[in-house]
Amino acid sequence: MKLPGEHIFVTGGAKGIGAAIVLDCAVNGAKVSFVDIDETAGKKLESELTSSGHKVSFAKADVANFEQLKSAFGALVSKLGDVTGVVNNAGVNSHADPVKMTDKEWDDFFAIDMKSIWLTAKLALPAMRKVNKGAIVNICSIHGRLTYPNFFPYGAAKSAVLGLTRNLALDEGKFNIRVNAVSPGYILTDLTKSWLKAESGREERSLSIQPSGRMGEPSEVAKVVTFLLSEKASFVSGADWAVDGGLGARSA
Ligand code: NAP
Repeated sequence: MKLPGEHIFVTGGAKGIGAAIVLDCAVNGAKVSFVDIDETAGKKLESELTSSGHKVSFAKADVANFEQLKSAFGALVSKLGDVTGVVNNAGVNSHADPVKMTDKEWDDFFAIDMKSIWLTAKLALPAMRKVNKGAIVNICSIHGRLTYPNFFPYGAAKSAVLGLTRNLALDEGKFNIRVNAVSPGYILTDLTKSWLKAESGREERSLSIQPSGRMGEPSEVAKVVTFLLSEKASFVSGADWAVDGGLGARSA
């Protein structure tokens, strides 16, 4: 049990990496609340984990909408108590053309992949500061440092997530609140699987550059997140943890 007595709040927790984080935190003894825009998947995961004896609560919210997020956060805190850890996982890909992308598309994308990290900080930090304890983990990406053609402006948003991680880590350190990033490489979620299948030969090419010859599983990201949320990482803050099987060490 790495997280006894903690209340961990996860965004985008209904599927993929987020769902693996919800599960790993729960099996490590935390009460877990999560939001997602997919209400069906969120309710299904909540009911599966609750029926196996875990304290898990779901509320529907779009992380890009502060009023929705605030109301969902308030409802979850009233059920499970003050939040002691936050995982900012909700994120979407972007494959925009810089000429054709509209202002609205730009704002909508950055609202999810970047601004939501500030919004959850606004909601969670007051209670954390009061008790001088807390941990935040931001799910970034290998694209925070090295990106890929036709991912505009995903690399920019994920680089900004690293900057936000450093800002928050420096400013909240005096309250004993640690803030770290986790940067996954290729992780086999539905999102990745459909991207790999979208172009003939893409999966084979992607596999051929993996140092370990395979892609990662959502649970392999979740284990690192749980560690960073836990007391075992008590002197780790402002860091970016790559979970990419070594891909980020490759030059070409
Ligand atoms: P995923 O399988 O698509 O799961 C993300 C979940 O977040 C989905 O349930 C999604 O709902 C939900 N969501 C999307 N927009 C939301 C919003 N505005 N508000 C609330 N929930 C929202 O994605 P994933 O692959 O697990 O990725 C999770 C995180 O890891 C993202 O930040 C991603 O950038 C990052 N990441 C993933 C990989 C990878 O290989 N999978 C690699 C590096 C980084 P819908 O399905 O209905 O949209």
